[in-house]
Amino acid sequence: MDKRIEKILDSVLAGNRLSTADALVLWREGNFRDLGNAAHEIRNRFNAADEVSYTAFRVVNYTNYCNIECSFCSFMDEVGSGKGYNLSKEEILRKVEEAIKLEAPQLFLQGGVNPDLPFSYYTDTLQAVRETFPDVHIRAFSPVEVLYMEKLIGRELSDVFSLLKAAGMHSFPGAGAEILTDRMRDILSPKKASTTDWLRAMETAQRSGMKSSTNIVWGSEEQDEEIIAHLDALRNLQDKTHGVLSFVPWTFQAQTKKFRLRKVPPHEYLKMVSLSRLFFDNIPHIEVSIMVAGKQLGELALHFGADDINSPVIEENVLRSFGLKSVEESERFISEAGFKPIRRSFSYVRGAKTDTTP
Ligand code: SF4
Repeated sequence: MDKRIEKILDSVLAGNRLSTADALVLWREGNFRDLGNAAHEIRNRFNAADEVSYTAFRVVNYTNYCNIECSFCSFMDEVGSGKGYNLSKEEILRKVEEAIKLEAPQLFLQGGVNPDLPFSYYTDTLQAVRETFPDVHIRAFSPVEVLYMEKLIGRELSDVFSLLKAAGMHSFPGAGAEILTDRMRDILSPKKASTTDWLRAMETAQRSGMKSSTNIVWGSEEQDEEIIAHLDALRNLQDKTHGVLSFVPWTFQAQTKKFRLRKVPPHEYLKMVSLSRLFFDNIPHIEVSIMVAGKQLGELALHFGADDINSPVIEENVLRSFGLKSVEESERFISEAGFKPIRRSFSYVRGAKTDTTP
């Protein structure tokens, strides 16, 4: 192994925080197997070496009307086009009921930014789910949606979260981060939350008592420095709030031809999994999205720093899916990868199918 890489990895293994400068060296010059060996060791310090966790949930996309128009998104329909949909409360309740029957009693509620929906749509929906299914954990919305709500009701963002929480929301996903630099956000989604606003939404959610996941989506025209800046922004957020439970590496999918897509090769995907495990000394879990990585690469990722499969997912409209579809399939997948499957809830409560703690 290159001496410089060895020195950096030894330092991380000795418990020192990986600097952004050294992270850039690892990303650019490190061999993915060297990073993977070190990341697996660190993963085993955060989590039991013989276990991999999974969680079953249903994604419900309540509307596909969206005025943000991200260049990579094929899910949205233009507001006013008449081609899209808004789900009624009853339709959402029916989907949750189906999910409960399929052993997935957790809801991931997300949609486009539809200016035709009043704030009461969000609170009424949350209340209806909570009243009908009090044991279902509701993970909802994303920074771009709550920033829209902030404008819609003209109140402080912390008030928006208080109202959503009072209506039944338990946790907040760190979706829509893509790459947290303004240059990349301008390229991919100029109308989406700026880096500062995205981080403000996450910090406010976590200060309101909601736990979150975080991610990166790469494989476009981002620069190496921007990948590290993204990781650094999330690590700094976590230093302040301690509300982030996990990090998930995602790659852009070929949904549209409106942005520059770079196919991320398998070794680079694994390198990201490992680098994130080495970089986030303050985030307990690294998840691999089987839906994005696929089963073969996903299995390898469990030996490169990841400890959770973020599956099974009952429905996902935004991405093509080749993920795991049931609890049985997920458990089999983990066992075949050489680990003991451990069920967990969104909040990482071991052995729980759901939980209603924030
Ligand atoms: S990714 Fe989300 S915010 Fe962007 S256009 Fe699609 S639905 Fe809208």
